[in-house]
Amino acid sequence: MNASLHIYNTLTRKKELFKAINPPFVGMYVCGPTVYSDAHMGNARTFISFDIIFRYLTHLGYKVRYVRNITDAGHLESDADVGEDKISKKAKLAQVEPMEIVQKYTVGFHEIMQQLNTLPPSIEPTATGHIIEQQQIAEEILKKGYAYEVNGSVYFDVEKFAKEHNYTALTGRKLEDLLENTRELDGQEEKKGRLDFALWIKAKPEHLMQWKSQWGQGFPGWHIECSAMSTKYLGEQFDIHGGGMDLTPTHHTNEIAQNVAYCGKQPANYWIHTNMLTVSGQKMSKSLNNSFLPHELFSGQHHLLSKGYSPMCVRFFMMQTHYRSTLDFSDEALQASEKGFDRLMESYRTLLTLTAGKENPENIDVLREKCYEAMNDDFNTPVLISHLFEAVRIINTVNDKKAELSASQLDTLKSIYQHFIIDIMGLKVEEDNSKTAKALDKVVNIVLDMRNKAKANKEFAVSDEIRQRLTDAGIQVKDSKEGSTWKL
Ligand code: AMP
Ligand code: ZN
Repeated sequence: MNASLHIYNTLTRKKELFKAINPPFVGMYVCGPTVYSDAHMGNARTFISFDIIFRYLTHLGYKVRYVRNITDAGHLESDADVGEDKISKKAKLAQVEPMEIVQKYTVGFHEIMQQLNTLPPSIEPTATGHIIEQQQIAEEILKKGYAYEVNGSVYFDVEKFAKEHNYTALTGRKLEDLLENTRELDGQEEKKGRLDFALWIKAKPEHLMQWKSQWGQGFPGWHIECSAMSTKYLGEQFDIHGGGMDLTPTHHTNEIAQNVAYCGKQPANYWIHTNMLTVSGQKMSKSLNNSFLPHELFSGQHHLLSKGYSPMCVRFFMMQTHYRSTLDFSDEALQASEKGFDRLMESYRTLLTLTAGKENPENIDVLREKCYEAMNDDFNTPVLISHLFEAVRIINTVNDKKAELSASQLDTLKSIYQHFIIDIMGLKVEEDNSKTAKALDKVVNIVLDMRNKAKANKEFAVSDEIRQRLTDAGIQVKDSKEGSTWKL
């Protein structure tokens, strides 16, 4: 286990030396998706970032229990406990069972995660599978006096909690500012304070997903699911809690308050937050309608994209920026990444063909150390990538017969590639798509030439058949005055 790993802790706002509570075991909880629609690339960025953290900790020898939940109930349209449950709303619109929505988007989410080569978490619990645990925590918080019940709903008393504890520890904001900037909202008259949030919400008869409780029929608030599931699977205190940065002011702030009120303990030693994937500087979000969906990216079928990008190229693109910085998504940025990615993977293929010779003056062991230093510095993947390009340069000079590498240097380089590119960055060697694409382009153009000749000879049955058979093969032909074009 590497003793020098430093992690930026949102809670303390400092980079800290990572110390597991109970080495070699590490407990990591990451807030998962709300499965009411397709996950977009922004969601994917967060989960890829934690996949790399999971992979790196595992590489260092820790036995990581990685829990990433599925939110399948309780996430309302607004963070202020108003509006409809996102899943129920979708189910009503589609006239299906809420669990059909959950199933569809959970399966879709898993497919995307697999395409992007993120490892499955150790446990993937669902909110609906932990209703009793959520009720028990709410009950305990009520008993301890940090919550109150009104007409079948249970609310957390933020002002009471804040008198004894630091409610805003995660954001460092002033409570007075928060109070000032939070509006009174319609439909919230039951709350004593404007920062109070629901632990349990009374269900109207028409609410689709509701459960029996000691307070009557209802459903859990959003935040309590993560307190319940992290405590159940990782204990009252565990090592790492993560999620997107947008979760800090409300979801994670409230989660910490719940845990402290419930058992007197702040749940995680290290809070890690990933920054947002943006489009023209704006957060990529379902509600802003600026999302790119993974399949649009892989196929290139999006009006802002000139072509498709492979899942591994997209994964590489995400890692070229540190997880705590914003990353702007654009066709140009992806094109630049693709060039880098192709160079890196091409050099891997080249490395495997090199034969040993004389010792190279470059110190390959130092290069490996630099790769570890980059990852030990708060998982700094862009710096890691810059060191890997040093390796690319060395490999290319050897391939060009301008230098040599000894057998042990070759082995070290191979282990650097295996560990950092394959195991830690999770990149897979893809078949050389560019060659396949070029060959396909040539073949289709040959077929289109033959079709044009048929047309010129007035053999319309032949030309129509060619077009139909291309369509059947997934190739769309468009005829215009300038000639014929095609796309997949
Ligand atoms: P959701 O499905 O909206 O509940 O979000 C699932 C995860 O994706 C959460 O950890 C969010 O913080 C994260 N997330 C949402 N939008 C973005 C974005 N544009 N960039 C990075 N992470 C995001
Ligand atoms: Zn959560």
